Amino acid sequence: MILKENYSIKNSLQINSVADYGAEINNLNDLDKLFRFINDKCLDYFILGEGTNLVPPSRYKGLAISYISDEILELDEGILRVGSSVNWQDLVNYAINKNYYGFENLSLIPGSVGAAPIQNIGAYGADVQQLIRNVHYYDLDKGIHNSFDNAQCNFEYRNSIFKESNFLITHVDFKIKKNGELNLNYKSLSHEVNKKIQSGQQLNPKEVSNIVSTIRMKVLPDPSKEPNAGSFFKNPIVKLSDINLSSHNLDDLILWKIDENYSKVGAARLIELIKNSLNSYDNVSISSKHNLVLSTNGNASQQEVLKLASEIQSKVKTTFNIDLEIEPRIIS
Ligand SMILES: Cc1cc2nc3c(=O)[nH]c(=O)nc-3n(C[C@H](O)[C@H](O)[C@H](O)COP(=O)(O)OP(=O)(O)OC[C@H]3O[C@@H](n4cnc5c(N)ncnc54)[C@H](O)[C@@H]3O)c2cc1C
Repeated sequence: MILKENYSIKNSLQINSVADYGAEINNLNDLDKLFRFINDKCLDYFILGEGTNLVPPSRYKGLAISYISDEILELDEGILRVGSSVNWQDLVNYAINKNYYGFENLSLIPGSVGAAPIQNIGAYGADVQQLIRNVHYYDLDKGIHNSFDNAQCNFEYRNSIFKESNFLITHVDFKIKKNGELNLNYKSLSHEVNKKIQSGQQLNPKEVSNIVSTIRMKVLPDPSKEPNAGSFFKNPIVKLSDINLSSHNLDDLILWKIDENYSKVGAARLIELIKNSLNSYDNVSISSKHNLVLSTNGNASQQEVLKLASEIQSKVKTTFNIDLEIEPRIIS
């Protein structure tokens, strides 16, 4: 275990953020040492991946933990065992180069493999839960190694058992699918796919990955040029009869029907409809590429980002009677 003081917390919003301590751990045995260290010092802590889904404070009075395991192993029984610090896109590339099915729709999602189960990353009609067999973790409350099978992870839309736990994910087992069906139902994806099919092109995971990557590069800001943490709010699931429609029609909203009464509502459209009434801030704004993304100029603080987020939440609430939930982890 390597322990550092005044540890810089990398984050894709480029908030200037430092933790009192940082611990870098690169083997399973050191996790017991980490457990004793945290308890001896009574330290607050959080687990840091690549920092693409975090809103950190300028000073974190505690320990930022980075676990480093960068192996990709093909085990018997069609399992791909992947270390938590492997970059997600590196895993996608590995899978599509082997023509394994299932990873292609999740192309170009930033971050690490270890963070993928936390909020059950998803895009273009697919979620990582469809690929996961087991998640191996170290329980930082009890100081023990353990693992969950897929059902025990309690995966939901942008949620899992890991979100509110102190479980450090060390590696993830994925199912290898050498044959499979491509998942092409998502609207913007099927539109591009149909164009390819009409031009006589055969589709495989690599082709679909290329299409997804092209769409993403068009519609999402690149965090290295425009610092951001991806979607800042989840798409809320609401009862249609509860929506306040005094200033807009239902047709103005984007709805994905869940059942007769409930629908998932596109948060980006809600924000688009209220954004002209928001105050402007020096260092943070709604991205011009995507209304669900808050971008900084590299000088924003956590408070400033959360101030804009809170103003958006309150305008959406008063206009539509809809609560928006913040998606990235707020470190406090
Ligand atoms: C431009 C952009 C686009 C994005 N698009 C999508 C998208 O399409 N779909 C989507 O779902 N997400 C998207 N995201 C969000 C982000 O990519 C994912 O949440 C990603 O999984 C975060 O990975 P990370 O390694 O950066 O995690 P971090 O930001 O470092 O951490 C995120 C959370 O995971 C926890 N964590 C990290 N590693 C571990 C570990 N090993 N064990 C336990 N807990 C851990 C952290 O404590 C924190 O709570 C996007 C982000 C950006 C910037």
